[in-house]
Amino acid sequence: MRVSDDRYTRDRLRLDLALRLIRHEARTYTIRQWTGLSDDRIRKLYRSYVSDHDDGAVTRHRGKSPRQAAYFFRSEELHFQATQLASLYLMHGLLGATLLGVEPRYRVGSIESGALLCRAYEAYLDLHEPARISFEHAWFLLWALARRSELGLSRCRLCDGVRLHDLLARRDTACANCAPPDPNARGARAPTARLFAPKESALP
Ligand SMILES: [Zn+2]
Repeated sequence: MRVSDDRYTRDRLRLDLALRLIRHEARTYTIRQWTGLSDDRIRKLYRSYVSDHDDGAVTRHRGKSPRQAAYFFRSEELHFQATQLASLYLMHGLLGATLLGVEPRYRVGSIESGALLCRAYEAYLDLHEPARISFEHAWFLLWALARRSELGLSRCRLCDGVRLHDLLARRDTACANCAPPDPNARGARAPTARLFAPKESALP
């Protein structure tokens, strides 16, 4: 492949990724992080996307990105959905399991990693109706798991499934499937599929 063809292909992939992120209502900052496109280019893409799809389906988010790990433990349903999303990150190779916990296998700014993140998030959307976790929260979940400062993944002692836990919480909890229902929670836990754990992962 000639150099100019190769560059054209990379540009095409970068624009495709940006459009995919716009569809997921990612923030401009996030789109810039993953594609390297300028804010001006992103704004133009966003405008052309909206004029092509004038059903008002896409909302543009401004303000601060999510930064609180506690968000994923606000309800049993959120905890369950976040755990499934974390499992999808393992299955898509965005995170790798080691004896010490999980480690990042993605690179911010890589088109391949960005496309994998979109694919994992789209697989999550296919599993949940309604999906409770926005793309920005999904990206924050991946980032926080990779940092291992607040969120961790391990195996549930009861069912061997993947367990998402708050590393700062003192109490050791079971996974989102095995935890006894919270009597104070509003509404019953929605019927959900069993949590899946990738076979090859060596979660502690
Ligand atoms: Zn369990």
